Parts: sequence; C-alpha cells; structure tokens
Amino acid sequence: MSSSSLAPAPAGANPPDHGQPGHGLPDHRRLGRELGLFRTDPIVGAGLPLWLPHGAVIRAELERLAVEEAARTGCLRVYSPVLAKRELFERSGHWDKFAADMFPVMRVGGDELVLRPANCPHHALIYASEQRSFRDLPIRLAELAAMFRSELSGVVGGLSRVRQINLDDVHSFARPDQVQNEIVLALESVRRCYALLGIEVARYRLSLRGPGDGYLGSAAQWQDAERQLRAALDQLGLAYEAAEGEAAFYGPKIDVQVTDPAGREETLSTVQADFNQPERFDLAYTGPDGQRHRPVMIHRGVLSSMDRMVAYLIERYDGAFPPWLAPVQLVVLPVTSEQAALAESVAGQARAAGLRAECDPADATLGARIRRAREARIPYAAVIGASEAASGLVAVRLRDGRQLTGQPAAAVIQAIAAQVASRSPGLGLDPA
Ligand SMILES: [Zn+2]
Repeated sequence: MSSSSLAPAPAGANPPDHGQPGHGLPDHRRLGRELGLFRTDPIVGAGLPLWLPHGAVIRAELERLAVEEAARTGCLRVYSPVLAKRELFERSGHWDKFAADMFPVMRVGGDELVLRPANCPHHALIYASEQRSFRDLPIRLAELAAMFRSELSGVVGGLSRVRQINLDDVHSFARPDQVQNEIVLALESVRRCYALLGIEVARYRLSLRGPGDGYLGSAAQWQDAERQLRAALDQLGLAYEAAEGEAAFYGPKIDVQVTDPAGREETLSTVQADFNQPERFDLAYTGPDGQRHRPVMIHRGVLSSMDRMVAYLIERYDGAFPPWLAPVQLVVLPVTSEQAALAESVAGQARAAGLRAECDPADATLGARIRRAREARIPYAAVIGASEAASGLVAVRLRDGRQLTGQPAAAVIQAIAAQVASRSPGLGLDPA
C-alpha cells in the first residue's frame, strides 16, 4: 500500500453538476449518469457504486491492460482473500496506523476477521511461503485487488471516493541492488499505459526522508534506495522534483502527478520502496554467502485504482473515449425497416470480429438516431439505406463529424478492429 494512492481526495473535489450536457467542466458523476456507466443505490450504500454494463466495459479493458503489463514485466499473478484475521494487520502495522479507516471487526467463531485495507501483507506471506535464494529474485506478484476503507457516507461520491478500492497492484521482492531496475520497469509501464490512455504526466515527485529518526530502516538503506530511485528517473531521462520529508516512514517513493480538466493536481500512479513489511514479516533470501538477507519490497501501482482511473478518464475524454475503451464502438443504423435484417447481420459480423456493435432499429428517424449515437459518444455509426443495401456498402459517420460514403461493410469492420486492436487514441479510418 502506498499512502498517497489511498489518500482521500479533498472534500468537494468535483466541480458542481451543471446539469447540462456539454456545459461546464466534465464531471464524472454527471457523465456517469448520462452515459449509463455506474450508479449508486441507497439500499447498497454510499461509496459502493454499481458498475453498469457500459462502465464495466471500460474497467474490463483497463484490467486487461493491467494484466498484460504485469505479464510483460515479469509479474506472476496471484489471488488473495479480501478478509483476514485482525492479527495479520497487527503484524503488518496497518492496525496501528489505519484502524480508524478500517471496517469494524467481524467475529466468526473464535476468529476476528476484518476487510483488508491493503493486500501487501498477503503478498508478503506468499513470498514467505517458500525458501528464496538470491538467484530467485526479483519475485514480482500481481493482483487486481479489492481493498476497503470505512469512509463516512457524507464524504464519498462517484468513483473518486469509494469504500471498496479496486487496485492494480504489484509487489516486487528484490535484492537491494535490484531496486533501480524495479523502479525503471514500473516507470516504463506507467509511461506505456499513459501513452495509450492519453494521460500527460504533470510531474514526477520523488518523496524523500526528512530530518529526524522517525523512519524505519538504516540510514545506509535509505541512502541506497534514494540513490536508486534517482538513478531510475535519470536513466529514463525524466525530470523530477525532490520533496524532502514527504516519504512514508517505511521508504522513499515516486508519485506520478497528473492534472484533471479543472487544473487540479492528483496522484495516480506510485512506485514505493518499503523496508517495513519485509521486517515485520521477517522476509528473507539466502545470499551467495549462504546467509539470510532481507529483501526490499517495492509497491507498484501503475493504473492505480480502477475507480479513480475510470473517473479520471471519463473527465479527461468528456465521455468520448478512444475506440478501444468505448462501451459501444459501432452502431449500425438501417434507414428503414427494409434494411433491418441486413443491419443486424452487419452488427453480427462486427461482433464476430471482436467489436462491441449494436443495431439501432428504424423506430425513430435516422436524424434522431444519429443524434442519439452522438450523445452516447459512439465513435462509429454505419448507415444502411436502400442504395447501400443494393450495393453491399455502408455509409460511415464518425463521432468527429467526418463521413465516408460507399464503403464495403467488411472493410469498415476490419479498419475499426485494427484501430481498436492498436489501442490508438484517434478514430482512424482516414481516406488513403
Ligand atoms: Zn502494497
């Protein structure tokens, strides 16, 4: 767990709801309602959003990206339960620090169970489940993990402040000499994901130890880790601001700062060195000298929490997502019911090609349905009238206003599928 990725957003962090689509700053709560992405129900509770099918698509695409990135950077996938005995979090130190933010203990038989505030302790125990040699390290464990905070109902809202946080989480267990490379891998992963998601980094903040001795680990350990964090940033040519006294007591970290459309800065991704969990769980590996050595644990949150990332992206794109994230990518519009069967068949071909495609039947005027598609921010609409039907073609209307007439349906589907597969930010389909 990194303190910043769990730090609550400031109260009233969202702009007021203007209630008019397209007016004012994008607000993910308003857009979430208008686009049918998520909702909360009082009987479920505040801060416990239900992800509707269209919102779930965006989250699932992000989860797929997170899984791919973890695999590409050598992570091993694990699963761990959201419940554990209170003892686990006493051992990890969370109970001392975070008990006030945790849900109350549930007594089951003789056990006292709690909903976890972090999954770092579980991963520490997975590491500890086997003897480790210096040759086995680094070991990188990845999980899309749910964790919980007992936020009061007055302060939760939308997706940016929730009681169940769904985190893209990696823990690397590394030798002290491997820290730099782990940080580089994490930052490269952040940069690849941000390039795909169209997110610009406002700044990298290197949070260092301040004066005083309230820090866990030796001065030599800290100096070495801080040097490797700097070296990783330098290796990638990234400018950063060092912030002394901003580190957690258990290790230095790098926060990736972004700005929302209202100009407010927030932390999305973090990479953090941790001397505390290895100490508390007595983690070890056998060194070349045959002795027990302590690994460093590195917490990596690339996409951060799914909830906050989706909230950020909704506002970043004002609901008009790149094709690979769009809940519906293609809507097929028969001009009259004469073309209904053909339109259904084209939508079916698009789904067979892996696209999220729907048919909007001719129960309203074509103009009304094109407007509906635009309001839903659907990137592509394929119109089939009598002449298109006769020639086996479609007319394409893109979300950005462009129109392409007389296109073979199969070629359009193929071009959209290629655009989606490449996770390109634009709509493509440019005339050659
Ligand atoms: Zn962690």
